[in-house]
Amino acid sequence: MTWQLTDEQLAIQAKARALATEVIGPRAKAVDEAEQYPWENVAALQEAGFTGMTVPKEFGGPGHSFLDAVLVVEEMAKTCGVTGRIAVEANMGAISAVMAYGTDEQKKIAAELVLSGDKPAICITEPGAGSAASLMTTRADRRGDTYISNGKKHWITGGTVSRMHLIFARVFAEDGTEEGIGGFLAFRDETPGLRFGDREPTMGLRAIPEMEVIFEDMEIDADMVVMPPSGFRHGFGDLMNAYNSQRVGAGTVSLGIAQGAYELALEFAHQREQFDRPIAEFQGLQWMLADMSVKLEAARSLTYRAAESRGNGGSPFPDATLAAQAKIFTAEAAIEIVNDALQIFGAAGYSRNNPLERMYRDVRMFTIGGGTAQILRTLVASRILDMKLPQGRGSFLPKGTAQ
Ligand SMILES: Cc1cc2nc3c(=O)[nH]c(=O)nc-3n(C[C@H](O)[C@H](O)[C@H](O)COP(=O)(O)OP(=O)(O)OC[C@H]3O[C@@H](n4cnc5c(N)ncnc54)[C@H](O)[C@@H]3O)c2cc1C
Repeated sequence: MTWQLTDEQLAIQAKARALATEVIGPRAKAVDEAEQYPWENVAALQEAGFTGMTVPKEFGGPGHSFLDAVLVVEEMAKTCGVTGRIAVEANMGAISAVMAYGTDEQKKIAAELVLSGDKPAICITEPGAGSAASLMTTRADRRGDTYISNGKKHWITGGTVSRMHLIFARVFAEDGTEEGIGGFLAFRDETPGLRFGDREPTMGLRAIPEMEVIFEDMEIDADMVVMPPSGFRHGFGDLMNAYNSQRVGAGTVSLGIAQGAYELALEFAHQREQFDRPIAEFQGLQWMLADMSVKLEAARSLTYRAAESRGNGGSPFPDATLAAQAKIFTAEAAIEIVNDALQIFGAAGYSRNNPLERMYRDVRMFTIGGGTAQILRTLVASRILDMKLPQGRGSFLPKGTAQ
């Protein structure tokens, strides 16, 4: 371990490791096969105090640091990627946005939910607006004390199992003027007009539903608008900054999965014999394992550094550039590490009886969800070049083309 953790953090890490090894890990295969949300793992996380960790004491939480939560996510993901993701969303993501920009009433509701194990959903992506999130068409029209929302999101993690949904929509004033993009809180089984469509059959991370979420004249009280100080006109950027928390969390899940795969490969390399000696004695595999360890150390350092940047300059979220750099590197390295671990197992790695088969499917997600590796590179480039990079169609037309 190259990172200096405090005694308290080491204790959190040890407690999380014990839970992951003794309780969560042994269930991971069955959870993956059942493709059912693991409520028993949610209960175990909640009982251990591993949901709502960063909720401040004034809202009933323990007020842990962001890195504390990252340590828990990493340990869970080592044995079960799905449980790692649940730990992300019960500690980061939508809850970060509400705790940063919500009213006291919203913070109270959100804090109570995550502390009791809810994994809030963030609803941004639409069939026609993925990377180009600002092209979303879901709308929220002001009508007196409420907003009426219509539209459809897809690939919403949690969907049917999440109680709280942070929904992004174009906002229109009573007179029809467009005001910008805002965030709205809606609640499953409570908010009229909120319903769920088809579930996406995913390659990995199969126990969390990826859902279509549909708004049909959905009624949201105006006091459930999550409003950054910059208002609707400029608030979208601020709301999207909440994704920096989620990004560090998502990178951490891929880190945990990769660490788990590496440890399995190390053990196997000692046990498996070919040509009358353990395969660990072959330099070809030694160098693979050495490269895996280098990537893990680098990924962990980037991830922890991004986690520790929360609060810099008074920001409620990790630094955008560090979060993107950490997620790009960690997600890509994790895919390589799990792939190499599977290779070290030979045919045994290709069997569905081996956890690596599941880990290989699970880890593939992290260069896609929460901002693709390409879009995050664009974000990093815009920061290091101090430029707003062109994204619109016209920007890429040859010079002289009529627009
Ligand atoms: C498992 C999973 C869970 C998810 N959970 C959620 C969730 O909870 N909430 C939510 O709102 N969304 C969620 N998403 C959606 C996710 O955020 C989007 O998939 C992502 O933003 C990319 O959008 P897209 O899939 O439509 O790809 P597209 O935007 O269509 O991109 C297709 C390809 O083009 C590339 N590309 C696009 N634009 C550019 C560009 N300007 N420069 C270079 N390359 C570019 C992309 O990198 C990608 O390779 C989830 C996705 C997955 C897979």
